[in-house]
Amino acid sequence: MNNETPVSQPLYGLLHTDVGGIDALAELALDMRSSWNHATDQVWRQLDPSLWDLTRNPWVVLQTVSREKLRDALADAAFRRNVDALVQARRAAAEAPAWFQQAHPQAPLNSVAYFSMEFMLSEALPIYSGGLGNVAGDQLKAAGDLGVPVIGVGLLYQQGYFRQLIDPDGAQQALYPYNDPGQLPVTPLRRPDGEWLRLKLDLPGHPIWLRAWQVRVGRVRLYLLDSNDAANYPPYRGITSELYGGGPDQRLMQELILGIGGWRLLAALGIEPQVCHLNEGHAALAVLERARHFMQATGQPFEAALAVTRAGNLFTTHTAVAAGFDRFAPAQVEHHLGGYARTQLGISLHELLALGRRHPDDAAEPFNMAYLAIRGSGAVNGVSRLHGEVSRRLFAPLFPRWPVDEVPVGHVTNGVHMPTWDSAAADDLWTRACGKDRWLGPTEALEQDIQSVSDADLWRFRTAASTALIDYARARAARQLAAAGAPQEEVEGAGHSCDCHTLTLGFARRFATYKRPNLLLHDPERLLRLLTNPQRPVQLIMAGKAHPADQAGQALIQQWIHFTRRPEARARVIFLSDYDMHVAGHLVQGVDVWLNTPRRPWEASGTSGMKVLVNGGLNLSELDGWWAEAYTPEVGWALGDGREHDDDPARDALEAEALYDLLEREVIPAFYSRDAQGIPTAWVARMRESMARLAPRFSSNRAVREYTERYYLPAASAYRARSADQGKIGADLVDWRHALDQEWAALRFGEVRVETDDERHVFEAQVYLDELDPDAVRVELYANGVSGTAPECVEMIRSRQLVGAANGYAYRAEVPAARPAADYTARLLPHRDGVAIPLEAAHVLWQR
Ligand SMILES: *Cc1c(COP(=O)(O)O)cnc(C)c1O
Repeated sequence: MNNETPVSQPLYGLLHTDVGGIDALAELALDMRSSWNHATDQVWRQLDPSLWDLTRNPWVVLQTVSREKLRDALADAAFRRNVDALVQARRAAAEAPAWFQQAHPQAPLNSVAYFSMEFMLSEALPIYSGGLGNVAGDQLKAAGDLGVPVIGVGLLYQQGYFRQLIDPDGAQQALYPYNDPGQLPVTPLRRPDGEWLRLKLDLPGHPIWLRAWQVRVGRVRLYLLDSNDAANYPPYRGITSELYGGGPDQRLMQELILGIGGWRLLAALGIEPQVCHLNEGHAALAVLERARHFMQATGQPFEAALAVTRAGNLFTTHTAVAAGFDRFAPAQVEHHLGGYARTQLGISLHELLALGRRHPDDAAEPFNMAYLAIRGSGAVNGVSRLHGEVSRRLFAPLFPRWPVDEVPVGHVTNGVHMPTWDSAAADDLWTRACGKDRWLGPTEALEQDIQSVSDADLWRFRTAASTALIDYARARAARQLAAAGAPQEEVEGAGHSCDCHTLTLGFARRFATYKRPNLLLHDPERLLRLLTNPQRPVQLIMAGKAHPADQAGQALIQQWIHFTRRPEARARVIFLSDYDMHVAGHLVQGVDVWLNTPRRPWEASGTSGMKVLVNGGLNLSELDGWWAEAYTPEVGWALGDGREHDDDPARDALEAEALYDLLEREVIPAFYSRDAQGIPTAWVARMRESMARLAPRFSSNRAVREYTERYYLPAASAYRARSADQGKIGADLVDWRHALDQEWAALRFGEVRVETDDERHVFEAQVYLDELDPDAVRVELYANGVSGTAPECVEMIRSRQLVGAANGYAYRAEVPAARPAADYTARLLPHRDGVAIPLEAAHVLWQR
């Protein structure tokens, strides 16, 4: 089926014009590739320079520019040639074999559906809030670069996430400008006959119609659903209005549209992804709908269908605290999904709720979307090494009696899409050192290549970046103050604040209390002394929004605004309102040091600090999230002792002092110690190490290759194997699990004997399996790891049947006698080829 929207019949007829070449422009304008490949910028700048600078939205420029201007531009042979060349380049890039095709030519993987509540691709498409959308957007872009066949699935919000205004009192006001779909780089998704693809879902009382849209992101596509269809019951039209807005009902309905609607959309397009990647638990209902489609195709009951399809699902968790999981009241689930469970899945409400509960029979326990995602996936991962550990602790209750190390959550550390976040000058510098295609394949050689850039070149590049940021921040701050009605001298003052020779610290993030955005304000007088030191001054450029319901976060913003208004601080601190991708881009390209002060271990990964790497900025951060694995003294600075202290105010005070000390004793002196050419050589050495060692490692290129090789390819094979034979393997697996459930309580260990000689312990364990097939289990010797090493697990081999016992056996194993025999314990686990233990069967019996 051809899902192309012919651009010659665009939305709202806005380009109904006879001007030749318009299709080519529309093709360029509708590809989000322009958010990282800046080859087309000049086209839009030429058509309308000021609108382009304000919106960075090619589609808006194209629709707004007059027909005369378009005609004149396209009549110019040079312009036309340029446009045609850009279109050719775009198509060539979309079709060239990429890393995936070269590295995995015979791979059984032809599509991965990537579900996410938000995608941060460009400020032209404001359907994101922050870090989660950043990860989704950057991974989609990198998947395109690498040729990994990913399809994005998300929601199109009429208002998206709120926009921020700071009022004259320094208080945050939340605004909700309307996202006119006609001005967004999205097109209606049409059937081959031109009909707009609409899907119908059953909600209580009324059906809901969903409209489908598509976004091009280089060679990848993103499909979006929205509920603002004229045919809908009015309250349902607004379900997809706000991102993370409204109450729990709205959230559940959004998640229903995303998960169930999203999978149905793929089916309507004839797409059958082998792998479904859930970016956070929001999308977990997709696992139900995927199973339902398998039921329909094979006639299997729900449980067997889920056992088959989960092998192809991957759940990525981004939450570092249990309170961060989406949980819904049982009555809400009953209201919105009870009918779906009974009539579509053929299961009871109780069975559905059990999938989202720790204790299925606890009627008061809410429905946890992360639990559903775990029960519906074949693999689970966190987003940094530390977050993997934290997640194993968080999900340990689902795996009772399992050592926390064996809770089945791995990790893939996030990365960012370097071509999106690098400045034009950084792009030049890297291109000269590493070539144009550096982010399109393996990046392991880049470290060597970027090392070759000279101190002088690096420093020139850095000072130009500072200047550009200061110009931008001054102008934006002045406009912001003028719009808020600030006195003229304040507006003018902002136009002259900061300067390009001063050390610039950048600090921008969601103002959530766990991020401790006010740590630096702990001792305002000490901070002022730092900022205004006459020989070695420091300046601060900040931004950040707090969720409209987060009063504490908003108070922190106000605290900062009040600080920036102190006469001594004015020339040294700029707070930019309405933090978004555009502001973030300028900040990460221009700051010398990026500060991050979360409370460990709450920052699952963090990505903003990764964006400065390619631009030669350095990180000073708490040892949390990605920085806990990235930091070494050669590449930046670390805060904290690498341990957890909860929200102890004394600890915060201690870390604030440590932050000032670090700035005073190390960061500031390093920046201002210059050689005869005026170059801070120690600083530049850090820049070089940070760029070389960290930029490739914390790129989304690396993350997507890791997802592909460690998760997508195995998941595709596992799903293929399980779905063979109309799902028979799934049905057998369910029988096996039922047998385990039934028999487990009756299993027991008899005597466990050990004989030790000089070199070995020889263990023999007696195991009584009651009615259970011995092939359904395995027996292991287990010993805890010593001083940080992994635990030891040694399989015990069934050696003989026990005399006088119908289903009792002796199992034997030998281990070196280096450790005392008492370190080892025998245990009994479920076993079945190709089945993930304990993810898919968490039974375990310990000898003691
Ligand atoms: C990168 C980015 C984020 C994520 O930042 P963290 O500090 O990692 O949470 C949030 N918002 C915007 C606009 C960003 O560009």
